[in-house]
Amino acid sequence: LNLITSDLAMRSSEALSPPLTILLAAPRGFCAGVVRAIDAVENALDAYGAPIYVRRAIVHNHSVVRALEAKGAHFIEELDEAPEGSTVVLSAHGVSRTVVSEGRRMGLSMIDAVCPLVAKVHREVQRYSAEGRDVVLIGHAGHPEILGTLGQIPQGAASLVSSVADIDALPIAADQPLAYAVQTTFSVEEAEALVAALGARFSDLVGPSSSDICYATTNRQRAVRTIAPRSDAMIVVGDDMSSNANRLVEVARAMECPAQLVSGPEAIDWDRLDGVEVLGLTSAASTPERNVEAVLSAFHSRFRVELEEVGAGDERAAFRPVLV
Ligand code: SF4
Repeated sequence: LNLITSDLAMRSSEALSPPLTILLAAPRGFCAGVVRAIDAVENALDAYGAPIYVRRAIVHNHSVVRALEAKGAHFIEELDEAPEGSTVVLSAHGVSRTVVSEGRRMGLSMIDAVCPLVAKVHREVQRYSAEGRDVVLIGHAGHPEILGTLGQIPQGAASLVSSVADIDALPIAADQPLAYAVQTTFSVEEAEALVAALGARFSDLVGPSSSDICYATTNRQRAVRTIAPRSDAMIVVGDDMSSNANRLVEVARAMECPAQLVSGPEAIDWDRLDGVEVLGLTSAASTPERNVEAVLSAFHSRFRVELEEVGAGDERAAFRPVLV
């Protein structure tokens, strides 16, 4: 009888809950580069035992970092924090040549988990610089990927831009041989506008034959653009430090869809969802699906949720594992 009563109570409270349609973006969450980098740390732990040192966040998500810490990974900011002769995994964002040579000098055993699509951009800027072209890198200052890419070529050989104003201010002659490259997680639309501005100002400009913005960034931004016009608000599950996550928020907001970036259910600002009937939900390339499930469960406890998956569906990309 107790069970029946509580079941009836639950059903009646569900019936009282307001309805909410959630448009779940597909694809969302982990990309192939993130899976590969996390596997590299786990495989290194299996092969060599704990502790394994990891320079900086292996991917930009705190819950991923905490899960790896629980398995014996030890996160450090700089290589000199690792004991002599230890094994250090370098993050998916890539590092400068100086970091690699410093590790070699210190006798560290390094496992480079750089995403192959970031490594592609490294090779491009090296080639442009070797050809005698000044490099203009489109990206966000201070991001580890940018530091790593700039660190592939001599200091001063590249200029970083993130806006048309930055391009206007470049102290470079209009006929100087120039090449551009783009941060893999930059906004697709903004990058197009910046490349057009470079083309308008410089007469001898070359760029990559295929986009530097990776498939995962492109697909997740496209899914947000599909969902945003139908949504009263958008939740992006991801970390503040994730470039990929922040771009998804910007893409939604640019389409006048109010968006919140939340790391989990505890970070949701429910007041901002007052009156929302259709909610878009997505996650960054570094966000585990369990974090999306936790957010969904929080919505289920407050609303009568109808779930609809929208977008191009799952991705099939996979990279060869990192050798450990
Ligand atoms: S977001 Fe793109 S560049 Fe970054 S790890 Fe994933 S696939 Fe690689």
